[in-house]
Amino acid sequence: MTRVTADPTILSIPEIRSTFRGQVIGPEDEGYDAARAVMMGGVEGRPAVIVRVADATDVARVIQLARETGLELAVRSGGHSAAGHGVNDGGIVLDLRDMKGIDLDVEGRTVWAETGLTAGELSVATAAHGLAIGFGDTGSVGIGGITLGGGVGYLVRKHGLTIDNLLAAEIVTADGTLLRVDAESHPDLFWAIRGGGGNFGVATRFQYRLHPVDTVYGGMLLLPASAASVAAFMAAAETAPEELSAIANVMPAPPLPFLPEEHHGTLSIFALMVFAGDPAAGEQAMQPFRDIAAPLADMLKPMPYPEIYPPEDPDYHPTAAARTMFIDHVDRATAETIIGHLQASDATMRVAQLRTLGGALARVPADATAYAHRSSRIMVNVAAFYDGEEDRIAKEAWVADFCHALDQGDPAAYVNFVGDEGAARVRAAYPGATWERLVAVKRQYDPGNLFRLNQNVPPD
Ligand SMILES: Cc1cc2nc3c(=O)[nH]c(=O)nc-3n(C[C@H](O)[C@H](O)[C@H](O)COP(=O)(O)OP(=O)(O)OC[C@H]3O[C@@H](n4cnc5c(N)ncnc54)[C@H](O)[C@@H]3O)c2cc1C
Repeated sequence: MTRVTADPTILSIPEIRSTFRGQVIGPEDEGYDAARAVMMGGVEGRPAVIVRVADATDVARVIQLARETGLELAVRSGGHSAAGHGVNDGGIVLDLRDMKGIDLDVEGRTVWAETGLTAGELSVATAAHGLAIGFGDTGSVGIGGITLGGGVGYLVRKHGLTIDNLLAAEIVTADGTLLRVDAESHPDLFWAIRGGGGNFGVATRFQYRLHPVDTVYGGMLLLPASAASVAAFMAAAETAPEELSAIANVMPAPPLPFLPEEHHGTLSIFALMVFAGDPAAGEQAMQPFRDIAAPLADMLKPMPYPEIYPPEDPDYHPTAAARTMFIDHVDRATAETIIGHLQASDATMRVAQLRTLGGALARVPADATAYAHRSSRIMVNVAAFYDGEEDRIAKEAWVADFCHALDQGDPAAYVNFVGDEGAARVRAAYPGATWERLVAVKRQYDPGNLFRLNQNVPPD
């Protein structure tokens, strides 16, 4: 990795500092290392400058700076990009983290939220009024990235993807214009930002539709994993009421303090589940899962919805090999494949994460948004942590082999889980007509590909 400091002939930090309301951080400044850190380990970019923007005017000014200097622009909200796109080497980072305004219309059940918020922060704010929107499984993920890519989480079967609840957005485009984008105003751009990622501009605010989601029945259920239990779990998730969304992580049981030591490291189904409806009905809906095997731990209970986002360690930056894909079914043979591959790996942390989709997500037409995989039934993420370069190669081979064995002919990929995997994988996220349409919108709003440090849709 090249070490870069701002070239004063291109960029004078003292000069630009006075032109922003937000904080401008250069390589010589205290706090630079903390400011450039992103979630994924092994991403060590050293930008020439980080601008922690305060408002849309600052955003437009950063865009102008990137155009004037020709320096590469990274756009960062929560910093969780698997490809490390939230930082760069020698370029400009537009960091939205300090933009956390929330404008809630409780009666109308909508909220305008600035894109520096995390999923957890916004969920806590709306939960104070018994309202929610679904994001993903992790509270520290930024609403910026997760929304623009789709958003698959604990309300997905009941209320759809995050984008299925996006009513409008404010976007600063490559020419510095602030646009309000919705179904009537710039409908082509509104279509593209619902799944097309950060290709079209910088979103400063999103308006979401909220749902009455107050006390839910959910939490963590830990079951012993075998081919039989994994297949049974997935069958139960498929037939469960739509209120129930489950994320089944088949992985070595973590050394949880309340888990007897003999189970630590044994293969388990670490399931995170939410029933977004009447808690009593939720308890009933969980019974088929509890009946699969004697749980190793059962923490399912009535709880306020945001409790599904427990506190996180901000210093957690794992290095992982990972790949995302979709499959149709987890029958006994598929479950055997899953167990066999997990048993064959020596990674301290290795997982096949299985998410049953369908429900509200599947009722949206495939061409209504740039997330086109509406009929794909189960989202899978295979991942293994690694330690060092040699181990990375071994773990990437394991992931590739595992995914090959799981392949059931669905070529789709979910863009928010794609890492730095090359152009073909971006194309897999956007099949056929979706790709053509994204390119057309890109040509109109970002013909010079200013926003290219992302899962890129080039204009030509
Ligand atoms: C631990 C973990 C758990 C996850 N769980 C889920 C999950 O359950 N469900 C799910 O759907 N996804 C999940 N994801 C994936 C996540 O949605 C994506 O990584 C997402 O891009 C992260 O958004 P961010 O704002 O935190 O990341 P950033 O790195 O800040 O942004 C990612 C990219 O999004 C674009 N971007 C971000 N904000 C803006 C903006 N305001 N305007 C324009 N472009 C922007 C940029 O291109 C940027 O490079 C998870 C990721 C991690 C690391």
